[in-house]
Amino acid sequence: LAKGAGKGDWKRYRPDLQTAMIERSALRQALHEAVEREQFVLHYQPIVDMPTGAVVGLEALVRWQHPERGLLGPYHFIELAEESGAIVGIGGWALREALHRFVRWQRDHPAAAPAYVSVNVSARQFRRPDFVGQVRAALDGTGAAPGALLLEITESLVLHDTEQVLADLRALRALGVRIAIDDFGTGYSSLSYLRHLPVDVLKIDKSFIDDIVTSDRQAALVTAIVTLARDLGLTVVAEGIEDAGQRATLNGMGCPYGQGYLFSKPVPPEAVPGTITAAELTAP
Ligand code: C2E
Ligand code: MG
Ligand code: MG
Ligand code: MG
Repeated sequence: LAKGAGKGDWKRYRPDLQTAMIERSALRQALHEAVEREQFVLHYQPIVDMPTGAVVGLEALVRWQHPERGLLGPYHFIELAEESGAIVGIGGWALREALHRFVRWQRDHPAAAPAYVSVNVSARQFRRPDFVGQVRAALDGTGAAPGALLLEITESLVLHDTEQVLADLRALRALGVRIAIDDFGTGYSSLSYLRHLPVDVLKIDKSFIDDIVTSDRQAALVTAIVTLARDLGLTVVAEGIEDAGQRATLNGMGCPYGQGYLFSKPVPPEAVPGTITAAELTAP
């Protein structure tokens, strides 16, 4: 079908690539408009106290309700959103939405409500000069207590830190907001570096948890992280716990908190109150 030869020729041989490029640019355009069109939703995954299974927090995870493609997970669009800058708008929306929901859960289920909501923040969003102001405005606008907010940032943000990043982290903590390093262990920060970092929580990446039962090496690494975190006064959350063996091993290591399919997959907001009860029921 390709007309003529020359520049256009490659299209004949790489129809998949061409389709991918067209799809990508269509997706980028749609992504750009998706916040205003209210096409995003947040699902929530419990973070539990490991010994009892009680829900202590909820992590907000964004999904895109695409008009033609259905519900898309972050895998399908986060990278593109980072690249195009759309993540700034998406992240700002996610912050306000998560706090808004959280305040309503606290109001409607005061006895069962978890202590905090955790919101992912991309490096690009964090580096905006008005980020701290946005967080303050979201707290003021929803009436959420600053202590009810945990912001999850990536190792790479703090690794390539500037004075500004450190100053903003301090300013957020001065507000009473807590900071977590997400996917800890997948970046290249040295453990000793943590000592100087104004953060509160380490979330150990799922890739360390996967083989924790069968690999002595992985188990040793996680033990080291848990021990060091405790010595530094940091809280630890193990990510991606899928089976009871992993939970038992982590319990043996004294890892205080966990998150994963064993307890619950991320669920839509309507299902959150039930999920909290269900996770508590899995407690020993
Ligand atoms: P993350 O923040 O590390 O979130 C954990 C991811 O692991 C989630 O995937 C969650 O559904 C998944 N997960 C949790 N437990 C298990 C388990 O036991 N097994 C397996 N296989 N997976 C598990 P999800 O929701 O697809 O999110 C992927 C990533 O997208 C997140 O990783 C986060 O980096 C990013 N993301 C999600 N929402 C936002 C957001 O609002 N803003 C930004 N900047 N990034 C977001
Ligand atoms: Mg996260
Ligand atoms: Mg994570
Ligand atoms: Mg992860």
